[in-house]
Amino acid sequence: MENIKTRVAKEKSHITAIRQKLHKIPEKGFLEKKTARFVEEYLREIPEIEVSTDIAQTGIIGLLKGNKPGKTLLIRADMDGLPIHEQTGLSFTSTHENMMHACGHDGHMAMALVTASILAGMRDRFSGNIKFMFQPAEEGPGGAKPMIEAGILENPQVDYSVACHLWPGAPAGNLAIKSGVLMAAGSSFTIEITGKGGHGAMPHLCVDAIDTAVQVANGLQRVVNQKINPLSPSVITIGSLHGGSAPNIISEKASLTGTIRTFNKTIWRDYPKIFEQIISGVCDSMGASYTFDHTQGYPPLENDPDMVEIMKRCMEKVVAKDRIVEPESTMGAEDMAFVLERTKGCYFFVGSGFEGCAPLHNAEFRYDESVLLTGVESFVRFALDLLN
Ligand SMILES: [Zn+2]
Ligand SMILES: [Zn+2]
Repeated sequence: MENIKTRVAKEKSHITAIRQKLHKIPEKGFLEKKTARFVEEYLREIPEIEVSTDIAQTGIIGLLKGNKPGKTLLIRADMDGLPIHEQTGLSFTSTHENMMHACGHDGHMAMALVTASILAGMRDRFSGNIKFMFQPAEEGPGGAKPMIEAGILENPQVDYSVACHLWPGAPAGNLAIKSGVLMAAGSSFTIEITGKGGHGAMPHLCVDAIDTAVQVANGLQRVVNQKINPLSPSVITIGSLHGGSAPNIISEKASLTGTIRTFNKTIWRDYPKIFEQIISGVCDSMGASYTFDHTQGYPPLENDPDMVEIMKRCMEKVVAKDRIVEPESTMGAEDMAFVLERTKGCYFFVGSGFEGCAPLHNAEFRYDESVLLTGVESFVRFALDLLN
């Protein structure tokens, strides 16, 4: 039986070529046409894999069946780029105007595709199935949920799941994983307040929309102080507050927009109800009316402790033990959280940092493709361990 490390190492130039090809053609969420075609053509070259396309617009599933029946593992990659003008100076720089793979999703696809090639040649070494999920629009509005609604976790039913993200916050060669909440839930909201305009000298004849909006803003901040367990980090940001037109006119209209980030699933689910109580209480007391619009965003991303233990044992065969680190949780959000809500699984970071490296979502973000092989080897070992 071929040694896994030797098998993975053979993919060095192959994975580099895939990553660089994908890097040249970054596309916006739900418009990943060229990218999806590349992924589809690659998977169709592997005879053991059944390919389904156009799921939730551009999503793709590759299904690899083992030789014996068993459980099903899903390995997920995201496909979208970002509206950023690339300034890396790389020879394979983006060919698409004002679009860039600045979040490493080119590398995520390359890792999943190479993992598919390797595991297709190892069907006698696992029972059950492996589904490779290529999703649109991770950067928003989110492709994972519509793919789930389209049934990708059924036929065969998915038991386990795994995904990773390139991480400049950890040095290249490190792998980072931990149990519990790793990434936050994120949602955004808009509140429009209508009062009664009038003369600045006669407030008793008016309903001041700006004064109402300020009280609403203060009331919403009380949610973090009073409604959320202080042990689960949460932040509510009012990002904009607009109203008024002149110093001597009481404003009839005011609007607020903001975002909530939290590690607390209950707050993520219930915040619209809690917010509405505060908004309606304040507006009632002032005699103003309001509208409240919100998006639910992504839930917190939570790793299953058993899956993390299995993955850590696998990682110890991939890199030296002192290269496996526990990452700090981040207030960033990730729609793999929807898959992890419904399956037992884990999400880890593949260190890609070097001295002076740019952060994710930066026009100078880059990484060395050799780190991708640590992700591939982790996926391969995790699949073989779990499905044996
Ligand atoms: Zn991103
Ligand atoms: Zn990303």
